[in-house]
Amino acid sequence: MKIIDGKQIAADTRARIKEETSLLIEKTGVTPGLAVILVGDDPASAVYVRNKSKDCAEVGFKSFEHILPASTTQEELEALVKNLNADSSVHGILCQLPLPKHLDERAVINLIDPKKDVDAFHPENVGRIMIGEYDFLPCTPAGVMELIHSTGISVGGKKCVVVGRSNIVGKPMAMLLLHENGTVTVCHSRTKDLKAETLQADILVAAVGKAKLIGADMVKDGAVVIDVGMNRDENGKLCGDVDFEAVKDKASYITPVPGGVGPMTRAMLMQNTLTAYKLAMNLE
Ligand code: NDP
Repeated sequence: MKIIDGKQIAADTRARIKEETSLLIEKTGVTPGLAVILVGDDPASAVYVRNKSKDCAEVGFKSFEHILPASTTQEELEALVKNLNADSSVHGILCQLPLPKHLDERAVINLIDPKKDVDAFHPENVGRIMIGEYDFLPCTPAGVMELIHSTGISVGGKKCVVVGRSNIVGKPMAMLLLHENGTVTVCHSRTKDLKAETLQADILVAAVGKAKLIGADMVKDGAVVIDVGMNRDENGKLCGDVDFEAVKDKASYITPVPGGVGPMTRAMLMQNTLTAYKLAMNLE
């Protein structure tokens, strides 16, 4: 078994982005900029936003944090998005989800200029992923593909099983595996016999949100196991959807939690911001 070191692969990705960014800034005189909107005081979201600014600083991007009170109205939020759409120093826009309940998340996402939509949640970008003609991929599935590529194993012809069908992880994940010629099964809470499905997987991606749902008896010998889940175990420790200790000796490759998909998700946001910048600057 080999552990896929997401932390290291993410660090390598940031180093590559930093190098390319500095060359492009020299050429254009313009620095890539990422605007992040945070509404309310959810502590987890605040940490994510802080990390995004930190990553921007590391790779040489400007970051613009817009921290708004929980009482922000739909009109105020939409006005901010419109301003950011029009601001040429902002190449990427990200609205940290979830928004407070009184705000219409979908309306906000739909308002973001698709060319600045570095989360790739806008319906135009979602549609582009479906037909395989995309500029941006959603960060988590894109990060998972990078981790799979790092193993040197080709997805082509492999039986891939994705557990979870959310719009931000499971569905686009299945689509990316399909684009690379995997034979893909998507499982969810209504799947009749989850174990029978996961046991077929050469490549298993768990994106459920249930601590240690995937045990050793659910994994085929030699499978590549990617754990997207971020949960707390009974001791409050961060853990994935996969029972890492039990599964690690069966898998050929496995991602740990923490240190697997999480850091790659962050690195892919930097990648998407660079892509948005290059699009805006006609550098592609
Ligand atoms: P959602 O809650 O939106 O989706 C969970 C999916 O799992 C649903 O499709 C649900 O099925 C399915 N599911 C729930 N219970 C079971 C079960 N017992 N058996 C099979 N399928 C089941 O979660 P997300 O996709 O947003 O996130 C999934 C996990 O990934 C979470 O732990 C989240 O924290 C983590 N995450 C990690 C990221 C990272 O950077 N590492 C980024 C994004 C998410 P149904 O559709 O039928 O309800």
